Amino acid sequence: MGGPYGISLITGDGIGPEISEAVLAVLGALGGRGPALSVERLEAGDGALERTGSALPRGTLEAVRRSDACLKAPVGESAADVVVALRRKLDLYASVRPARSYPHMPALRDGIDMVIVRENTEDLYAGNEFEAGGARRAAVALRIITERASERIARYAFGEARRRGGKMRVTCVHKANVMRLTDGLFAGACAAVAAEYPDVAFDQMYVDACAMNLVRRPESFDVIVTTNLFGDILSDESSQVAGGLGAAPAANVGDRFAMFEPVHGAAFDIAGRQEANPASFILSAAMMLRWLSHSRGDAECAAAAGRIERAVHGAMADGIKTADVGGDRSTSEFAEAVAGRLGGAPV
Ligand code: ATP
Repeated sequence: MGGPYGISLITGDGIGPEISEAVLAVLGALGGRGPALSVERLEAGDGALERTGSALPRGTLEAVRRSDACLKAPVGESAADVVVALRRKLDLYASVRPARSYPHMPALRDGIDMVIVRENTEDLYAGNEFEAGGARRAAVALRIITERASERIARYAFGEARRRGGKMRVTCVHKANVMRLTDGLFAGACAAVAAEYPDVAFDQMYVDACAMNLVRRPESFDVIVTTNLFGDILSDESSQVAGGLGAAPAANVGDRFAMFEPVHGAAFDIAGRQEANPASFILSAAMMLRWLSHSRGDAECAAAAGRIERAVHGAMADGIKTADVGGDRSTSEFAEAVAGRLGGAPV
């Protein structure tokens, strides 16, 4: 058994502080039956920018670097300065978005249990854009795809298929019939890596066909691996098909470090009113424990993750829900209900 683990918690803006307290209540309720966690609250985002002049203060970055994993609540307008900077500085090259259907969520179909693994560092989102100038105005975006980044995201995806132990299939999504060189390189790299994982099935799909199949037969997917822009779009689609963003966690993962965050934003319209649904952030904390379990070989973390997931979905199945998903519970009431199902006393 490993631990204790140092967890950096960026409490964020808008509903961030409220859902952060909810996560702390749930982690605290793991008590002696979970891994030892020591959580350090940190500031980043709009509030930090106002107070310190930097959206990602040096002290926060240093504390995140020192920690074993980071939990990040949503930040406001300065999100790019925080999230993109952390991804770059910590080389978190894989964006991981699971989508799973549950009977108590408005999923389009039953049996959805998939994950989208998106390359996080290259493609059109790298922001290499230029004005072409001249009398006829034009603008150019550079799409750079490298073999190194493609191979490493493919390895992550195949590893993920093994860790999940489900359908054991990786689907590489691209548009190599049109973008022959860039997506051709990406698809080729994925196919080459597939040969190293004979126990995992491999197939390929054009991105337009994938968008269609995510609606027609989402339950057939296991792990999708794709480039940055396609992955951004497809992961919002898959979350929605599986029942909405209300309970959708996400991770940014590198070789040695990972950061976990809810899919939704800072929701300033409901901030400070105890109306926010903390399920997505609580499930992000469960995802963090699962990652700690795999990266440190600590089965206790995986057990704790499973307990939290069952507690969240058990509470929701019993009708304990916040207003956004048709319930009448406050943020802290939902967190207490989840904590109560974990057996220990909430902190
Ligand atoms: P961003 O622009 O960073 O995506 P946002 O808060 O404007 O942030 P969304 O996260 O898409 O955008 O949220 C849209 C709306 O959905 C919010 O304004 C809020 O009313 C609602 N919402 C989002 N997250 C939650 C949540 N966790 N609980 C309850 N309502 C939420």
